[in-house]
Amino acid sequence: MKRCITVFLTALMAFSVLGCASSSKISFTPGTYQGTAQGFNGDVTMEVSVDAGRILGVRVVSQNDTPEISGLAYERIPAAIVSGQTLAVDTVSGATYSSQGIINAVTAALEKAGADIAALRSRRPVSATAARSSRKETYDIVVIGAGGAGLAAAISAQQAGARVVVLEKMPRAGGNTIISGAAYNSADPGRQASIAMNEANRATIREMTGKAPHDAFEAELQQTVARQFAEFTAARRPGLFDSPEWHMLQTYNGGDYVADPALVRTFGENTLAALEWEISMGMQFTPDIFTVLGALWPRSHRPVMPLGTGYITTDLNYIEQHKDMITLLVDTKATDLIITNGRVTGVKASGIDIDYEFTASKAVVIATGGFGANKELRQKYNTQWPNLDNAGTTNHPGATGDGLVLAEKAGANFVGMDYVQLLPMGDPASGSLSGNIEQGVEDRFFVNKSGNRFVDEGARRDVMTLALFDQQDAYMWVICDRHSYPTPQTKNNFNETIEELVQQGRAFSADTIEELAAKINVPVANLRAAVAEFNAGVDAGRDKWGRTLWRIKIDTPPYYAGPRIPTVHHTMGGIQINTRAQVINRNGQVIPGLYACGETTGGIHGSNRLGGNALADIHVFGRIAGTNAAAER
Ligand code: ADP
Repeated sequence: MKRCITVFLTALMAFSVLGCASSSKISFTPGTYQGTAQGFNGDVTMEVSVDAGRILGVRVVSQNDTPEISGLAYERIPAAIVSGQTLAVDTVSGATYSSQGIINAVTAALEKAGADIAALRSRRPVSATAARSSRKETYDIVVIGAGGAGLAAAISAQQAGARVVVLEKMPRAGGNTIISGAAYNSADPGRQASIAMNEANRATIREMTGKAPHDAFEAELQQTVARQFAEFTAARRPGLFDSPEWHMLQTYNGGDYVADPALVRTFGENTLAALEWEISMGMQFTPDIFTVLGALWPRSHRPVMPLGTGYITTDLNYIEQHKDMITLLVDTKATDLIITNGRVTGVKASGIDIDYEFTASKAVVIATGGFGANKELRQKYNTQWPNLDNAGTTNHPGATGDGLVLAEKAGANFVGMDYVQLLPMGDPASGSLSGNIEQGVEDRFFVNKSGNRFVDEGARRDVMTLALFDQQDAYMWVICDRHSYPTPQTKNNFNETIEELVQQGRAFSADTIEELAAKINVPVANLRAAVAEFNAGVDAGRDKWGRTLWRIKIDTPPYYAGPRIPTVHHTMGGIQINTRAQVINRNGQVIPGLYACGETTGGIHGSNRLGGNALADIHVFGRIAGTNAAAER
């Protein structure tokens, strides 16, 4: 009732103001006033000076917003308020929060000056965006998309001597890469030397190398791995067995053999070199190698910085040091490829107030990421999952598959489009990966709402997610213990401490399994049995679900539980490329001048991407695309 009255009164006021205020004179108490409001990144304080009838000046007193994102708003909105003598100023696109913060802070200051705010808001709107201009620029390489793949391509092209521009449609670089789990898979015997190899690991290798091969590529990989493993065993080498071929074999098998063998080989042969390349630019990993969800083997490298911020920070630092050769333009969306006599020669793009035409004297690289945030597109291609209309996603809003539209016009072929990856690890509120309490596959298990285990928690991502869809409300709990969180301040991969997750009610902790069961409302006997079953599996190395990845028993309080649901994560399909990252057309031929890398491409992961393989993929093929693009003509 109260709300209805408020809405009514507001509408009445707006009506009366609109009816008379556009031309009316507004009076102020002359003086200088300050007002504060919430900006993009904390408080914004603005200062306004007025005489009896006019706003004389608007000045920024303090703000904490990022200049690259919000600079234009701070430049233009104060000027627009003064020139239009109005609070009806359009926000600057790409800097909405900052714009609104500035306008709100100025409003607060003008309230102190006794102004009629409603009247100022109803004056003729003024645009804070300058008239559009057009600009033509020439670079050797135009890279579209500033996620991990695009930045790797830009840097390697520069290292091969090219001048590069990177176009990013969002207000900042990073894409899905910066918000990803960020584990990087690579066979890396040096760093894997400290991992103990158990009987279950050995059995996995024997099974995979001993089974009937699906095709010649798998047969070749099986033979190589069997030989390498025999040598490893005979030499009594310490640590965990791994090799590029074992990684390839698991990748190819884990994607149901529909990946392109040539791309799988290129991938597997180059993951370690790409990892070392990123490290050489300053990227840091923790010394412990782990198994990320769905990785199938302990070869995941964990960045020191949270999520994917380490990769993007490293790349942006490099770019900052080489800005004479690499230009990064944010808020600049590629809208079309320019094609001249069958060759891709440039890109049309739309900036905040500039229409660009970029000529690429060597080549264009598409690195626009996947389409996990594009509901129409993923529904169009999805054949594997129930209706995904209402499914959440771990993706950033820019993951809309733009590269596919651009490439299609150039005649590109697409592969594997119906393979959309879901994770069983979505936050029930947002679908994002935040709040995930698992630290590594070996150290946690899952139960459904009845407190029962229901799947091999070390299995492929699609296997686990399909099993989760079969559980009540497609809802599960991740269970772990103190081994995962030695202290309440221990953080998950998303920079959240277990203590804050518990305080927020996003995770539960208890000193006994019985207490935990009560807190998460599952039958005590079932949860107790699930823990016993898991601990028996640690001893036996295998259990009735077929689980083979184990490390240590869950037996040390506090015990933790966190809820999870299925969420859309990655799109395996996309633009077809060859091993040089050149785009292939619908007749199987290379499209001259066009390269692609990262999640926008298809054919590397097959039907199911192993966890931890994406970060490796984008760096391997980002480097290949950049280096080869720079070597054109
Ligand atoms: P990858 O892992 O393949 O690098 P990301 O999602 O990390 O993929 O990065 C892709 C980047 O491309 C994102 O930052 C996204 O905003 C950007 N992007 C997508 N479409 C366009 C476009 N039309 N123009 C410019 N940038 C784009």
